[in-house]
Amino acid sequence: MNEKLRIKELIQLINKANYEYHTLDKPTISDYDYDHYFKELVELEEKYPELKQEDSPTQKVGGSVLEGFNKITHQVPMMSLSNVFDETELRQFDERIFNVASGYSYVTELKIDGLAVSIIYEKGLFKQAATRGNGVVGEDITENVKTIKSLPLKLNEAIDIEVRGEIFMPHKSFEKANEERMSNDEALFANPRNAAAGTIRQLDSKVVAKRALDIFLYTIVDAQNYVNSQKEALDYLQTLGFKVNPYYKQCHDIDEVHQQIQLFDDKRKTLKYDTDGVVIKVNEFSLHDKIGYTAKSPKWATAYKFAPEVAETKLLDITYQIGRTGKLTPVAELEPVFLSGSTISRATLHNEDFIVDRDVRVGDIVRIHKAGEIIPEVIEVVLEQRTNQTPFEIIKDCPVCGHPLIRKEGEADYYCSNDDCPAKNIHGLIHFASRVAMDIDTLGEKVVETFHELGFLNTIYDIYRLETFAEELKLIPGFGNKKVNKLLDAIDASKNQSFDKFLFGLGIKHVGAKVAKNIVKYYPTIDLLKEAEIEALIDIPDIGEMIAQSIVSYFSDEQNLKLIDELKSFGLNMTYEQEETIEHEFTGKTFVLTGKLESFSRDQAKAIIEKLGGKTSSSVSKKTDYVLAGSDAGSKLKKANDLGVTVLDEQTFMEKTNGLY
Ligand SMILES: [Zn+2]
Repeated sequence: MNEKLRIKELIQLINKANYEYHTLDKPTISDYDYDHYFKELVELEEKYPELKQEDSPTQKVGGSVLEGFNKITHQVPMMSLSNVFDETELRQFDERIFNVASGYSYVTELKIDGLAVSIIYEKGLFKQAATRGNGVVGEDITENVKTIKSLPLKLNEAIDIEVRGEIFMPHKSFEKANEERMSNDEALFANPRNAAAGTIRQLDSKVVAKRALDIFLYTIVDAQNYVNSQKEALDYLQTLGFKVNPYYKQCHDIDEVHQQIQLFDDKRKTLKYDTDGVVIKVNEFSLHDKIGYTAKSPKWATAYKFAPEVAETKLLDITYQIGRTGKLTPVAELEPVFLSGSTISRATLHNEDFIVDRDVRVGDIVRIHKAGEIIPEVIEVVLEQRTNQTPFEIIKDCPVCGHPLIRKEGEADYYCSNDDCPAKNIHGLIHFASRVAMDIDTLGEKVVETFHELGFLNTIYDIYRLETFAEELKLIPGFGNKKVNKLLDAIDASKNQSFDKFLFGLGIKHVGAKVAKNIVKYYPTIDLLKEAEIEALIDIPDIGEMIAQSIVSYFSDEQNLKLIDELKSFGLNMTYEQEETIEHEFTGKTFVLTGKLESFSRDQAKAIIEKLGGKTSSSVSKKTDYVLAGSDAGSKLKKANDLGVTVLDEQTFMEKTNGLY
């Protein structure tokens, strides 16, 4: 077939598939076919660059990296809308129109919480896109907007037109973006709007393409040149191939408008994207000039803003969190209450001034809301319901290390004065949870850091308190039901970890895994160890004065003793149980591990061998009894074969040890 025709055909096929999937939400071809067509098109275009079409979907994957964004002056300024916040204000808006015009109707549309964009098409082809900026001058984001899958690069009519819409990040893309940021150790986006705004200002359009932004179009500039009303404009935008939010409605009077608002104040909670209100416009364009404009906004339109969801509950306690910089944040511990789709049991109180200004007291009934953030905020106290609560007073000492807190002049925050405060240093927490210590599988470094950042983890003790916040943890991007349950199960299981691993996990200076193993044989309970004296400790093989000194000093610190008592109350195992050695063909044998194992890590394989009374060594010699070889085993396997050492593959090893560990 002629290549030019095939390229045309593929572009049509893919653009149609994009439209059906991203704009209509009704896919008609499989992902497999789509990928297949796309690949073929890319190859043909690479081979015949001169045949590349202007509306080719291959442009949507991004490519060019910009140095910065050029300024663009809008030919017609992008005005903002006035706001109304309740029914009274809504009816006043209607009265003002009624006073100057008659025979009008309204169109209500959802106000999408994203960022406004103006897009120019010439002869039906995508030309330029600009941010709103200050309304007069915006930034050129053409390359980035091009990557939005639901935006057509070629319209169904070859016209010159400027359209406006809202770029937003759907909840699904938002969660994915934050999951990625978490694994890259980057700060999380607070909400989808911030994420969309941050994404559209990326200089690398490939990053933008990956983030999967979406767009709803809602206005045609100089629309009266094309149609007669807002309703017709929205219909026409769809005829051209644009994605328009489906929840628009022509309303014949303000009562009907109000009904729509009430309907969507509820329905918005089930949508896959954020909306913060309803836009109300006089439908008939012929009346717009008559109704007129203020300096900033049209008088024939307004935005009804949904009130943030608020809940009332009892403030049970004020606790404190120390961040990595040593900053103290007071946290409201609340009687659990349902808010914006989830159960909330804590909220931030920011700092001392915040609490004092609002006169928040433990025992008060408080109002809380979620300001698009993960952690809700206390707004105010319901003073009518106050009984005899005592005024708030901030603590004087760090709740983690006991050192004095310092409030620098001109700053609202207190900081722990101790440079070595464990709260500033979460390595201890990471170590405690790690595979070599308590082996809490899902509580890796990144998760510990995120939880610490959000105030859920300050000390080891907090790990066992996480259960209380299960509902809140599920709200953290990248978490959710399954992952949180898995984490809590792993935490629960860690309570049975062996005493020596626990001791090692505490991070006592100079007490490594081997030393801990040794100690517990002589001090089989934590209570015995707490009382141990240096002279007695030194008698243990391989323990010198430095280690002994360190142990004694650890157990003489009040904070450490408190931590151990708290952990005890959670049921953590602090008793050494003599391991039964199982008589097995591996008992007393020396192993060397090599290659990549599929079913378990090397540490796990090592643990199994030790449990069966075997040993592991790092190099193959005549003394080696077995080599356990995974895939891609190299020189060690060769040496084993040369020396005639028995080589076990993973399958055989599993069969021989099945059920014994
Ligand atoms: Zn401290």
